[in-house]
Amino acid sequence: MNAATSSRPLAGKVALVTGASSGIGEATAAALAVAGANVAAVARRRDRLEALAGKFEEAGGAVLQLVVDVTEPAEIDRIVEKTVSEWGRLDILVNNAGVMLLSPLAEARREDLRHMVELNLTALMDLTRVALPHLRKSQGHIVNIASVAGRVANAGASGYAATKFGVVAFSEAVRREVYSDKVRVTVIEPGLVLTELGDHITNPAMKAGLEQRKTAMEGMLSEDIAAAVLYAVTQPPRVSVNEILIRPTDQER
Ligand code: NDP
Repeated sequence: MNAATSSRPLAGKVALVTGASSGIGEATAAALAVAGANVAAVARRRDRLEALAGKFEEAGGAVLQLVVDVTEPAEIDRIVEKTVSEWGRLDILVNNAGVMLLSPLAEARREDLRHMVELNLTALMDLTRVALPHLRKSQGHIVNIASVAGRVANAGASGYAATKFGVVAFSEAVRREVYSDKVRVTVIEPGLVLTELGDHITNPAMKAGLEQRKTAMEGMLSEDIAAAVLYAVTQPPRVSVNEILIRPTDQER
């Protein structure tokens, strides 16, 4: 039985997932834990992480709760150190934490633009940098959650698309730096997924527009994206899944 067909293909592996308290990150942390990985779950909401850990501890899985704001640079070092000191290694890094503060640029708040860059891009780059020595050692895997907005730039999403195009570019450049060390890099680009992502939009018209979109089409579920992550990280070592663009069937662009 190879790794991809075993029921616990990630047994013995250690994963670190940011934004694991809701949506895609929570579903991904769950999928990796069910597949046998020990999971370090990173987010700011302690109660949500406790609930996630509780579920997996009951089922015999191991979840390390790391209540952290990843936009704090010192915390980036701390979460990698804690994960490696707890479990001795790091095999899979899932950079998922993000916000989508949609707004036409003329109405955009400066703090929203800065926050998207700091969380979606700067924190992701820095965490990848700090995790890299451990991933080189384990011949590990970096999974970056970008977006369709990292491939298609639409009005109202200039700041968000800039960060997600950045994630796609960063992922490919890093892949070229690490492939010869057998480190794999996957960028996942989801379309509409039904999560809490839109709750933080500060522009009322953009927020209402997203809610309307959610009723006009059948969005994907977080589990659909977690399945794509699991697919990528359970391929044989010779296979490097570089990019998965995944839209709801009903989504045009
Ligand atoms: P959610 O809002 O449900 O999840 C976002 C996660 O990020 C939460 O767990 C949140 O936890 C965490 N987070 C936010 N800020 C911080 C911070 N400063 N430090 C640590 N963690 C933080 O949305 P999604 O699951 O939809 O989003 C996950 C990723 O998927 C994002 O990168 C998003 O851009 C991307 N994506 C989503 C799509 C969608 O349609 N939903 C489509 C394409 C991409 P907490 O608040 O507890 O810190």
